[in-house]
Amino acid sequence: MKVTFRGASDEASNIKTFKFDKPGGFSYIAGQFIEMTLPHKNPDERGTKHWFTLSSSPTDDFLSITTKFAERSSTFKQTLAKLEPGAKVEISEPMGDFIPPKDISRPLVFVAGGIGVTPFHSIMEFLAATNEKRNIRFIYGVNNEDEIVFQDTFAKADVHATIVVGEPSESWGGERGRLSAELIMGLAEPSEDALVYVSGPEPMVEMLEKSLVKAGLKHDQLVLDFFPNYENDLAS
Ligand SMILES: Cc1cc2nc3c(=O)[nH]c(=O)nc-3n(C[C@H](O)[C@H](O)[C@H](O)COP(=O)(O)OP(=O)(O)OC[C@H]3O[C@@H](n4cnc5c(N)ncnc54)[C@H](O)[C@@H]3O)c2cc1C
Repeated sequence: MKVTFRGASDEASNIKTFKFDKPGGFSYIAGQFIEMTLPHKNPDERGTKHWFTLSSSPTDDFLSITTKFAERSSTFKQTLAKLEPGAKVEISEPMGDFIPPKDISRPLVFVAGGIGVTPFHSIMEFLAATNEKRNIRFIYGVNNEDEIVFQDTFAKADVHATIVVGEPSESWGGERGRLSAELIMGLAEPSEDALVYVSGPEPMVEMLEKSLVKAGLKHDQLVLDFFPNYENDLAS
């Protein structure tokens, strides 16, 4: 279906949110993603189609995606950055099962690596808008303080959040280091019925999948969202 671009706003120096009108009858569950098609001349090997999580809440009257821009962006991202308000963009139906469980009493651990924060933004905005209370422990790893986004949402959703910064400035008073199974298990102490959601660059999610299982989590406690082509992000 075609959606109309409303405009973009900065979340951080290299992270932007793109808003679109929400077509009547479009419904999705917080945490789902769409495929966006942006035809352009001479596309590079990253192509004309990209998957993006809907960072908006299903309760919003708009749809949004939030993405990161590299120093040398793909031709797709260059085209996205040049969209003018009013432009029509093709997106797919929403899909994916990186969504909270139906049982709202189940303890949840949310682990975001960098731009992998987008589904958690959608979920937490939804929880705040509907006043739904869930037991969520949120751990958010970034390279540096400049890349921290959506802090208002985490405060509003009333979740216990810890931000872990890989290369912090001297004034950073919070957790330092890279996301690891040891750090996650130590901070969250997940119970046997907890579900642990991990979202971020593919190599990071793969590494945490293996090490969290080694650290004692059962595989069916893990819900994973892999973002491809951010190979160098959050590299340890
Ligand atoms: C289910 C799912 C949900 C997703 N949700 C999101 C989301 O919410 N937000 C989001 O940002 N992404 C999301 N992604 C990932 C997204 O689809 C892209 O893979 C990602 O944004 C990288 O985009 P890009 O390839 O345009 O690279 P860029 O973002 O432009 O660049 C990433 C890196 O690749 C390098 N690079 C760029 N072009 C090339 C090239 N032609 N050759 C070699 N290197 C190149 C850059 O220099 C940079 O180091 C999701 C993916 C999936 C599967």
